[in-house]
Amino acid sequence: MPFSVYTSKLAQAVNWARKFSLFEYPFVTACCGMEFMATWAPKYDIARFGAELPRFSPRQADLLIVVGTITERQGPVLRRIYDQMCEPKWVIAYGVCASTGGFYQNYSTMPGADQVIPVDIYIPGCPPRPEQMLDALVMLQERIQKGEGHSQVVLRAERGYVAPDVAIRPDGNAKEGAGR
Ligand code: SF4
Repeated sequence: MPFSVYTSKLAQAVNWARKFSLFEYPFVTACCGMEFMATWAPKYDIARFGAELPRFSPRQADLLIVVGTITERQGPVLRRIYDQMCEPKWVIAYGVCASTGGFYQNYSTMPGADQVIPVDIYIPGCPPRPEQMLDALVMLQERIQKGEGHSQVVLRAERGYVAPDVAIRPDGNAKEGAGR
C-alpha cells in the first residue's frame, strides 16, 4: 500500500479526533451572549458534540467563538487572542454583529470580525437561536474532517503539502496557488 494512503488515513483519524474535542474560547462582548450561554444548558447540551469545555486562556483553546459587537478598539485584542491560540484553530462568528457589524453603521463598530481574523462559519440572526449554534458546530465539524478550515489550509500550504487554489492566511489575505 503506498505511503500516501497511510498518511491520508492518519489525517482522517486525526481530524476525526479534532472535531470531537474542540476547546472553545468564548469572546463575548454583547447581548448575543445571553442566547449563546443557553447552548451549554441541559436543553441544548453542546456537550453532545464534544465542545462543552470553555477555556479562558487562548493557549488552551482551538475554537474562537466571537459573540457580539466588535469595536475598532477591540480589534487588536481579538487578533492577539487568535494569534495565541493553538494550531490548527477555527473561528465562528455568532450573530449579525460579529459577522457584519449588524445595524451599527458608525465609526466605532467594526463591520465584522473577519476584518482582523479569518472566520470559518458565520451565524446570522440578532441574536441567533441556540439551535443555530449547534448547526454551525456540525458544519464546522464537517469542514474539520475534510481539512477545509482556514487554519488547516494555511498550515498545509506552509508545510508544502498540496492545498486548494486559494488559501486564506490568518492575516486575511488570499494567497493564490498556495501549496502548488
Ligand atoms: S446581533 Fe443583536 S443580539 Fe447579537 S450583539 Fe448584535 S445587537 Fe446584540
